[in-house]
Order: sequence, then C-alpha cells, then structure tokens
Amino acid sequence: MKLMIMGPPGAGKGTQAERLVKELDITHISTGDMFRAAIKEGTEMGKKAKEYMDKGQLVPDEVVVGMVKDRLSQPDCAKGFLLDGFPRTVAQADALSTTLDQMGIKLDGVINIEVPRERLMARLTGRRVCKKCGASYHVLFNPPQKEGVCDNCGGELYQRSDDNEETVANRLDVYEAQTQPLIDYYQKRGLLININGDQDIDLVLQEILEALKK
Ligand code: ADP
Ligand code: AMP
Repeated sequence: MKLMIMGPPGAGKGTQAERLVKELDITHISTGDMFRAAIKEGTEMGKKAKEYMDKGQLVPDEVVVGMVKDRLSQPDCAKGFLLDGFPRTVAQADALSTTLDQMGIKLDGVINIEVPRERLMARLTGRRVCKKCGASYHVLFNPPQKEGVCDNCGGELYQRSDDNEETVANRLDVYEAQTQPLIDYYQKRGLLININGDQDIDLVLQEILEALKK
C-alpha cells in the first residue's frame, strides 16, 4: 500500500506509523526523522534544516521535496510506503503528486489523525524518543517499561530539543496556517481517511486498520 499519514504535531503520526509499517510490511518515510539523522551526521542539509527546526518553522519546500524524491526512488519503497510528516504545504503536495505521476504510482489513502489542539501541548512536552530506533514514548500516556530505556531495542530515550513549550506553540501555529489546508486538498481528491486520534493508542491503530480494509 502507498499511504500518507497526517495530523498536527503530537497527533500520534510517528506512534501509529511505527505500528502500521510492521503490520502492513511497508517502508516508513518520516521527513522529520530524515532531518534529525542529517543533523546527527553533520551534513550541510542537516545544518540548514536545524535552523528552521529549532524555531518550529518549516524547512524550505525545495529542500524537503528533493530529499523525498530521492527516498521514493530507493528499492525498499517498491513494496509500499507510509509518508509521515510530508507533505506539509500545498506546494509540497503538488510536487508529490507530480513525482508519483512520473513514477506511475497512485496513493491509496491519506490517514488524517484528528486530535483537539488543547491535548497536543501535553503530548509533545512529555514525549520521549529512542535515540537508536526513533520509537516514540510519553512519560505519562505511553511510558516505557523501564524509565529512559526503549522497549523495542534497549536504546536511550531523549527529549527532542523542539519539544519545548515555545517551539511547540510555533509548530502548532505553522500547522494550522500551512498544513491544515491539505485536509481539504486530499478530501477533494477522494483520498482522506479521518481517524479519531483522541483515544487509546491501540484503538487508534484498530480504527486505521479497519478503515484501510474498506
Ligand atoms: P507525531 O508524530 O504526530 O508528532 P507522536 O506519535 O510522536 O506524534 O506522539 C506524540 C506524543 O503523544 C508521544 O509522546 C506519544 O507517546 C503520545 N501519544 C501518541 N498517541 C497517543 C494517544 N493516542 N494517546 C495519548 N498519547 C499519545
Ligand atoms: P516532525 O518530526 O514531523 O515533528 O518534524 C520536525 C521538524 O522538521 C518540523 O518542525 C520542520 O521544521 C521539519 N520538517 C519535517 N518535515 C517537514 C516537511 N515536510 N516540510 C518542512 N519541514 C519539515
């Protein structure tokens, strides 16, 4: 399956993506994870992206689009993929549409995880992420079995530098201004699958899997 997952920061995209790609045996493509990997490696692109990420702003479209195009052409995407955190602007969505057309690929659906804005701050400031495998936890809502240690791979958990109150507030505003219009965009194209993200993690996953069967 060729899928996309969208929703505001903290909606649970990464949490669900991690489970969905295992269930469906498809490749997870998270642009946020790709930028964080580039920052860790100290590449030029990573340095440039970090300036925007630290402020809670979007990395310029041309940088993101080029990166995703390269990624989609890699062999592990042939079995299917789940785009997570991309596209985030109408320009990115148009570029994706052109790229997929050129590759002869059709998106099967766009999963839109809905969570009221007032829930997102607590989710993001309490988020902890595995340094090794990227798995997402929450100090209260989804704690690991052993504090500070990833259940999946034993990796060390850390708090993302952009998960502080000030940057989160910016990211939520940026989402509303630049990414929310994509809900309409994909609705008009008959691809949108709305999912209630304001329920238990396992129930969100169940709702997505049920919806994909239809
Ligand atoms: P996103 O990738 O959309 O930014 P994450 O998947 O990283 O969001 O989830 C953000 C935070 O919210 C994490 O700390 C995660 O553990 C927690 N979380 C995810 N889904 C739920 C849920 N259904 N209920 C409560 N907390 C959740
Ligand atoms: P995420 O891991 O999805 O929360 O993304 C973290 C940050 O990476 C965002 O706040 C942006 O600065 C940047 N980023 C990730 N994906 C994109 C994208 N598609 N377009 C622009 N910036 C992005």
